[in-house]
Amino acid sequence: MSLTIGIDIGGTKVLGGVVDENGKVLDTHRAATPREGGAALTQTIADVALHLLRDHDVVGVGVSAAGFVSSDRETILATPNISGWNGTNLKNDLSKNIDLPIVIENDGNAAAWGEYCYGAGIGESQLMMLTIGTGIGGGAVIDGRLHRGAFGVAAEFGHLRVLPEGRLCGCGARGCFEQYASGNALMRHIGEAISASPDAAHNLLARGDGTIAGLTGHNVTEAGMDGDPIALAGFNTTAQWLGAGIASLSVLFDPACVVIGGGVIEAGEMLLAPTRLALDQYLPFRGKHPTPRIVAAVLGNNAGLVGAAALARQ
Ligand SMILES: [Zn+2]
Repeated sequence: MSLTIGIDIGGTKVLGGVVDENGKVLDTHRAATPREGGAALTQTIADVALHLLRDHDVVGVGVSAAGFVSSDRETILATPNISGWNGTNLKNDLSKNIDLPIVIENDGNAAAWGEYCYGAGIGESQLMMLTIGTGIGGGAVIDGRLHRGAFGVAAEFGHLRVLPEGRLCGCGARGCFEQYASGNALMRHIGEAISASPDAAHNLLARGDGTIAGLTGHNVTEAGMDGDPIALAGFNTTAQWLGAGIASLSVLFDPACVVIGGGVIEAGEMLLAPTRLALDQYLPFRGKHPTPRIVAAVLGNNAGLVGAAALARQ
């Protein structure tokens, strides 16, 4: 059985894994993400791969990273969170240390490919994925192939404009989807619900340190599971935006299945059920437009790693 390595570049850690043809992660190795980025980060990625190569016979390496990756899947065109990497031909730099085929992929694309090959989207040749954390990552599988677009930057769904002249986004544009339907947006919706009904917020705030800022996503999810009205209101507001965004994706791509992953999916049906209702409400040609299934991702934090490893096998 041929093995590949997938490496996921996170804000705090570089996580590598040896993955088999069934998507099973056989071994992992991690290192802290060097703050200075650039050549130091490239070296860390190489070190993680070389560590795993000591014990495993591997046929290729895939790297999943946030940002724009060139259409030939070699160069980091632009990345929001890593300094010293813009314009870097990461494939060439890694090839100096690693004598194997190497593929670089955007993290949202890699996660979508992972869920398509081994996760919630097996058998769905028309699939969209939203990875919902601090922002929203996107990926699209169309006709059973990862859709990368002309320049390699397709499916950045987090930056769909959902509200003209809306909130300023980290990308510099206004009104982006991730400003309304991400994990960060969920916490903002919760904060607004608390400000509107402070007397109803005691139980929720007591789960953290008593302040809005001290609440975690996990606190909010647990409160919602216990029926807390403020937490549920936050999930419902997020679900409204999520359903509206998925309606736009359905108009564009007509997917059969939309996979929701990232940290917020801990909430499960508490988020997905109202999202489905919102989708029905916002789809055009109401009652006549076909409706994609909306399902929870199953690969968790490994989606990018497993997807990158699968891409390295192609
Ligand atoms: Zn944006």
